[in-house]
Amino acid sequence: MTHELDHGRTNAAHGSRIDAYVDRYAARAAGMVASEIRALFAVASRPEVVSLGSGMPYITALPLDVVGDLVADLVATRGSVALQYGGGQGDPALREQICEVMRLEGIEAGADDIMVTVGSQQALDLITRIFIDPGDVVLAEGPSYAGALGTFAAYQAKVVHIAMDDQGLIPEALAQTIYALQAAGNRIKFLYTIPTFQNPAGVTLNEVRRRQVLEICRRAGVLVVEDNPYGLLGFDGEPMRALRADDPDGVVYLGSFSKTLAPGFRVGWAVAPHAIRDKLVLAMESAVLSHSTFTQLAVGQYLTTQPWREQIKTFRELYRERRDAMLSALEVFMPPGCTWTRPAGGFFVWMTLPEGLNSKALLPRAIAERVAFVPGTGFYSDGGGTRNMRLSFCYPEPDRIKEGVRRLAGVIEQELRMRDTFGTGSIPRQGGVDTPGPDLA
Ligand code: PMP
Repeated sequence: MTHELDHGRTNAAHGSRIDAYVDRYAARAAGMVASEIRALFAVASRPEVVSLGSGMPYITALPLDVVGDLVADLVATRGSVALQYGGGQGDPALREQICEVMRLEGIEAGADDIMVTVGSQQALDLITRIFIDPGDVVLAEGPSYAGALGTFAAYQAKVVHIAMDDQGLIPEALAQTIYALQAAGNRIKFLYTIPTFQNPAGVTLNEVRRRQVLEICRRAGVLVVEDNPYGLLGFDGEPMRALRADDPDGVVYLGSFSKTLAPGFRVGWAVAPHAIRDKLVLAMESAVLSHSTFTQLAVGQYLTTQPWREQIKTFRELYRERRDAMLSALEVFMPPGCTWTRPAGGFFVWMTLPEGLNSKALLPRAIAERVAFVPGTGFYSDGGGTRNMRLSFCYPEPDRIKEGVRRLAGVIEQELRMRDTFGTGSIPRQGGVDTPGPDLA
């Protein structure tokens, strides 16, 4: 018998996959579904599978013993502060240090312009929370970061993708889309862009276009949200100048220590005009009360006591070697008709398959051949990306990358033979929205 306080729950629902609450979720929860890709990736984490899917930084390259010592020292010497609640805007000393990091990209900001967040993912969530009503438009590159698209979906935003080429976002496409949307009465709340070493496309917005994009958005009254976790991971030359450096009032900038130090600290930040920053702080406090003082002070200690610029150089050299391994393997193994981007930094190559092939359909076969990638559809909100895949070179060692690309090329060749015989490659399975979990970030 069902107890009246049991709200209709049945014991069968406990621990089972039957959802007794299905008719009670808020409408915004409808978009929160895991796809079958997650299940496939549970298999893909087996050691014999080369994962070209994961966006995990190679933190083994950090001096982990040194980090361990500084964490122990932090608790021993400043434990009563480090293990206490902190202020909503984040540790003031860390915010000063963040200003120094951002100066490498031409940003002149003060500690008061910054709010520390739980990774830049939380900043994305909070920005969306304070700006988006259901149906509001967010502009985003096509393709764009799956984690951001998941957040936008959770707040019921309507994402409109803007085309990119190998120089990044196409300004004419941006201007036309804004014009058409505004003319049709849509409320465009912001442009979400990853201008440098984009996830997933690996491309970078060139200097001229940076100015054009800022100008177009300024004229149209569209706020720019610049997400820049990879900006310091360029393989040649000096870091690009951030968009925020040239338009402090029109850009909210998101930064992160996840790729230049370690994602496990979960320390990122947002730089915003003060009115927006005030709202963000209130939204942050309602979400988590106060972020971890402990990890903020640990990152601060690391920046104070360790040669962090040299560590970033180590990461850049390591990732450059892996990028080179991937590009040369693609050149050697991929069949004609496949094309791919050539990233100058960051973690990702974006591949386009020949006509008639579908990357999602290919994934189970690829995993059977012990290689994994992320299908392109995970990076679009509108079903695009069927012929694309994201290949990451950040985590596996160069020889494994080469082997992974060789295996993948074999699978693609097989698909091409099927297409030429039957007129199509494998048919994709149906599933939910492709929202890669954290291991695929
Ligand atoms: N933005 C982009 C473009 C990313 O690639 C990621 C993670 N891969 C994030 C934001 C979130 O990173 P974090 O929360 O670890 O700072």
